[in-house]
Amino acid sequence: MAELRFTFGTMGSGKSTQVLQIHYNLRARGLSTILTTQLDRSAGQVSSRLGVSADAEIVDSSTDLFDLVRQRVAADGHVDAVICDEAQFYDPVQCEQLARVVDDLGVDVYAFGLLTSFQGQLFPATARLLELADIRTEIQVEARCWCGERATHNARFVDGHQVVSGQLKVVGDTTGPAAGEVTYDLLCRRHWMEGAKAATGDQLELLDDEAARQPGHPDRSGPVEVHPQSVPTPLHATRSGATQ
Ligand SMILES: [Zn+2]
Repeated sequence: MAELRFTFGTMGSGKSTQVLQIHYNLRARGLSTILTTQLDRSAGQVSSRLGVSADAEIVDSSTDLFDLVRQRVAADGHVDAVICDEAQFYDPVQCEQLARVVDDLGVDVYAFGLLTSFQGQLFPATARLLELADIRTEIQVEARCWCGERATHNARFVDGHQVVSGQLKVVGDTTGPAAGEVTYDLLCRRHWMEGAKAATGDQLELLDDEAARQPGHPDRSGPVEVHPQSVPTPLHATRSGATQ
C-alpha cells in the first residue's frame, strides 16, 4: 500500500538532507522517483547545508501534482515515489493532489516541510498535510536558541528586528531596494513570543510581569538594543534571496 508521509521540522532541522537521503536510497535500489522543490534559491536542485545536492523538478503553486505524476507514469511506465521538498509552500489543493497520487496511482509520497511560519502559525499546506498524511513525523534536532533553550520557532528579522507581518514567502528578487535585509533564525518559544510582542506592540500579553521573569533573564519584552558582539552569529541565518 502506498502511503503519504509528511515529515516536518524547523529551519535547519535537516529536512533537505533527509530528502536527498531518501532520494538516493530509492534510486540506489533502482526505483523511479520524482524529486520536486519550489522555485527559489535552489534553481532546480535540492541542496542541503551539508553540501549534497540533486536535480529536482521545480513546481509552483499552479502545478497540478497529480497530473505531473500521472504524465510521468504514462511516459516511463511507472513511478515508485514522489519526494517533495519545501512542501509548506504548496497550495492546500496540491496536498490533496498528493493524496490522490497515493490513492489513485499507488505511488508513495514523501513530503517535507516547515511546521510553522515566522508568524508562528501553521503554513496552510502544512495544516492540510497534517490532516491528510498517513504518517506524520517530526524531525527532532537539537537546535538551540541564543539563550540555550531548545529552538522550536522560526523567526524572521528585517534589519535585525523580528517581524511577524509580511508575505509568507519572501523572495529576494521581489523585495526591492527599499526593503531591509531579511534574515532568519531559530528561537525558543519564549524568545520568539517576546520578539513577536515587541513587533506588534502589546497584542501578545506575555511576560509583562516582572515577578514572573526568572532572575538572569533580561527584559526583552520591548524593543531591544543588542550589541552585535553579545549575540552569537545565528547558525541558520540566511540572506535575503532565501525564502522561508
Ligand atoms: Zn530563548
